[in-house]
Amino acid sequence: MVGRDRWKKLSFDAVCFFLQATNEVVGRVPKATASEMEAAVASCKKAFWNWSETSVLSRQQIFLRYQQLIKDNLKEISKLITFEQGKTLADAEGDVFRGLQVVEHACSVTSLILGETMPSITKDMDTYTYRLPLGVCAGIAPFNFPAMIPLWMFPMAMVCGNTFLMKPSERVPGALMFLAKLFQDAGAPDGTLNIIHGQHEAVNFICDHPDIRAISFVGSNQAGEYIYERGSRNGKRVQANMGAKNHGVVMPDANKENTLNQLVGAAFGAAGQRCMALSTAILVGEAQKWLPELVDRAKNLRVNAGDQPGADLGPLISPQAKERVCHLIEKGVKEGASLLLDGRNIKVKGYENGNFVGPTILANVKPNMTCYKEEIFGPVLVVLEADTLDDAIEMVNNNPYGNGTAIFTTNGATARKYSHLVDVGQVGVNVPIPVPLPMFSFTGSRASFRGDTNFYGKQGVQFYTQLKTIISQWKEEDATVTKPAVVMPTMGN
Ligand code: NAD
Repeated sequence: MVGRDRWKKLSFDAVCFFLQATNEVVGRVPKATASEMEAAVASCKKAFWNWSETSVLSRQQIFLRYQQLIKDNLKEISKLITFEQGKTLADAEGDVFRGLQVVEHACSVTSLILGETMPSITKDMDTYTYRLPLGVCAGIAPFNFPAMIPLWMFPMAMVCGNTFLMKPSERVPGALMFLAKLFQDAGAPDGTLNIIHGQHEAVNFICDHPDIRAISFVGSNQAGEYIYERGSRNGKRVQANMGAKNHGVVMPDANKENTLNQLVGAAFGAAGQRCMALSTAILVGEAQKWLPELVDRAKNLRVNAGDQPGADLGPLISPQAKERVCHLIEKGVKEGASLLLDGRNIKVKGYENGNFVGPTILANVKPNMTCYKEEIFGPVLVVLEADTLDDAIEMVNNNPYGNGTAIFTTNGATARKYSHLVDVGQVGVNVPIPVPLPMFSFTGSRASFRGDTNFYGKQGVQFYTQLKTIISQWKEEDATVTKPAVVMPTMGN
């Protein structure tokens, strides 16, 4: 259904999605009706028994084929992401690649899903555990990683034997449809993965349906808190990865060249629409003198439609997102911040109607300002100052979010002190975007996460499975005593 002309011929109740560089409608997907959503869950439920009883080796084989199909189609999926989401092609490839790594990790299921055993806990008695699937699980995804985030969800759940109902963001539904088709081609049986399109009604349906056992959510705090509360109230397991305000602390002993490049890349890449974007810099002591150079580097970034060669950052996801970002910049200025670089009036040749905002830097920001307290989710770096490392740590720990942070320093002791004292779930030492590979888990904390068990890695397997513990006693004296039969069997007895 993706294509500029075809959408006009459709007549169902639909979710439209747009080319962000021009704001044209480029596709529509059918918004699931109540009975279609019911049918989707019923289909997952029906498929569950066979799927969960399929041998773990057979499930592993499907995921081994799936990872190869994603690799073979990586460029095509990336083009589709750039088309409907707006990010640059190189960034879209990263989006698919980081999701692919989770699928590759899911192929280690034979080790990941092992239970525990303890023989002879008492005479002739053993205890062992199985890790078993839950049933039908569901996922609700945001717009900013159309491939990676769905791939955090259904592969881990399904390789463990669950069936899955997925709701992509209504703003970028195409990449998931492509990924689902590849999954079918890899041999996933009918009914094991179902997709519904929609917004609030679809979310409420997932939170309330009695046959859905667990919900994985990634998105904003507003939606995440609501889904966590409503889903948990209905007895479901919920894991919710939410918003962020990630601080990069720059020490005066840092490698200046690397640090400034990394800060600029992590603040403005993907137009700041990453939950791990380094949207806040704290310059400590003498590092405050580096600000003019930081501004120069940000100025040199090229803003263009994501499919144009040389583009460093593309448009924002919607006119509303652009309006909100511009409003927060304006509010920052009103509240006393210094606007050192203003990207609000940028015009991109050939794409005059796009939702573009250029790199923007607000300096002299104080913790009580709105531009510091709210997640901006645009290409805006807010810069604060601190006299010492301790002041910087206090500042970061007073911010409610705990998704990610980075420290730039050449001193190991400084890095160690920061890593230990900072109350943030993912810390980079000279690494600006510390998103862990899937043999670890994504461990955002505090206001950036609700739930007990994180996404992917061992934690992901725990989230999508339940333990069954078996205590068995086989008394030695009951063992059947046999002897070799040396006489001719007579068959009749
Ligand atoms: P969003 O919350 O608007 O949408 C996410 C999903 O929730 C969508 O599928 C949407 O249909 C649904 N939704 C939206 N509003 C809702 C509501 N009021 N009630 C019920 N459902 C609702 O998020 P977004 O704008 O698509 O994504 C950006 C946000 O996601 C940012 O806050 C970003 O930090 C966060 N994010 C977090 C992570 C992470 O791992 N921590 C990763 C990516 C994005």
